[in-house]
Amino acid sequence: MRIHDVIGIGFGPSNIALAITLEEKKQEGHNLDFFFIEKQPGFAWHADMMLDNAHMQISFLKDLATMRNPSSHFTFINYLHQKKRLQDFINLKTFFPSRHEFNDYLAWAASHFDNRCAYGEEVFEILPEEKDDEIILLRVRSRDSNGIVHERFARNLILGIGGKPSIPEYFQPLRHDARVFHSNSYLREISRHQTAKRIAVVGAGQSAAEIFMDLHSRPNAPHVDLIMRARAIKPSDDSPFVNEIFNTDFTDFVFSRPDEDRATLLDEFWHTNYAAPDLVLIEQIFNVFYQQRVTGGTRHRFLRRHEVAGVQAQPEGIQLILRDLNAGRDHVSTYDAVILATGYRRDHHKTMLSALAPYLRDFAVDRQYRLQSTPGFCPAIFLQGACESSHGLSDTLLSVTAVRTYEIGEALLSTGNTGNRSISRTAANPIRAVANR
Ligand SMILES: Cc1cc2nc3c(=O)[nH]c(=O)nc-3n(C[C@H](O)[C@H](O)[C@H](O)COP(=O)(O)OP(=O)(O)OC[C@H]3O[C@@H](n4cnc5c(N)ncnc54)[C@H](O)[C@@H]3O)c2cc1C
Repeated sequence: MRIHDVIGIGFGPSNIALAITLEEKKQEGHNLDFFFIEKQPGFAWHADMMLDNAHMQISFLKDLATMRNPSSHFTFINYLHQKKRLQDFINLKTFFPSRHEFNDYLAWAASHFDNRCAYGEEVFEILPEEKDDEIILLRVRSRDSNGIVHERFARNLILGIGGKPSIPEYFQPLRHDARVFHSNSYLREISRHQTAKRIAVVGAGQSAAEIFMDLHSRPNAPHVDLIMRARAIKPSDDSPFVNEIFNTDFTDFVFSRPDEDRATLLDEFWHTNYAAPDLVLIEQIFNVFYQQRVTGGTRHRFLRRHEVAGVQAQPEGIQLILRDLNAGRDHVSTYDAVILATGYRRDHHKTMLSALAPYLRDFAVDRQYRLQSTPGFCPAIFLQGACESSHGLSDTLLSVTAVRTYEIGEALLSTGNTGNRSISRTAANPIRAVANR
């Protein structure tokens, strides 16, 4: 019976990069049986934020492979070469391709692994498989769009599941109101609000800024309130000395520091990644408000130093109580749609792995991103993109992806927890449709 050496959950950039690393390890004689499970029906990279003018916020050289192996088949440059666009891309004179193009690059890379990924299945549970007082395998349970539950068995696991939309407390009761949605589903949801006239965008980061400009150019010309606690929209600092914090060796530095030092570092450089749109975008937004003053228009409002102090769903719209932090006064505004560009949480692995919690040491990871476990728990479980507090701000980005997968690949091989092992009594077929749920 076949048991996968590695199952990767999620097939976004992090786990595609891992697939590439493991594929290239074959040339060194390490032939691991690896497989991925992805909930989307096919590969897509933040599809609902694929806005027309959006560009990468990171150099294309920080692609899936270059930083680990510049001669890899899977570099962005080889992708351009294969697509016969290398010379034209050079003439663009940019390090920052459009997000459309980077998505196409990622989809191209992912397509090499179509036989190693089950698309359209959402993993909801991971269970321990015990033999002789040891946990030797993991049972990975996923559900497809027809509600059928599938089970697979793995010796090791890599979670690359990205973030979950962070919904501020006041909006929690309105989670099922279609007039309130997160930037994560922006394009899908806004297409259902084509006639919306009054829209609020909550947030001060790149997504809020991109959405504001997108709404500004929409044919229905909605009135948009851009609401943020900040006094000013500050640009992301990508100057060279600051950018060094995204270098791969900075991960060693962050990891080696005591918890308080790590927290201070995260705090000091928080603005390189959060609430910090590109300067060009900030200038465009400023220009929109300036031209509005020139013409005496009132279409948009920039509600800086404002926070949402209450929310009510009314038949005529979503009512926000907006607190003016400068004046110390509240006022009420009503909207046809409210868009929460409020970022992501990165703790969903704890829910997914909750059945394994007794074996995991408070979900702490080592330098190689492996969750620490109790004696007798054999499977190695690695996290990609959920280790910002221990490994630094680059963890949720593409910056270290290629090198991180090298580190994980090496750690995986060093466990010796691969290859044929005895089969658990309960482990039947590696893929099993269980029941309709
Ligand atoms: C709009 C936007 C633009 C960005 N632009 C940049 C940029 O320019 N540069 C940069 O460095 N970073 C950028 N980022 C940060 C982003 O986190 C990384 O680019 C990258 O997507 C991280 O890859 P990942 O594979 O870790 O996570 P993700 O890309 O989020 O992929 C996770 C995958 O796991 C799947 N998944 C989740 N849960 C399950 C489950 N239970 N079962 C099965 N599958 C599951 C998801 O469907 C998804 O495909 C951007 C983020 C956003 C939202």
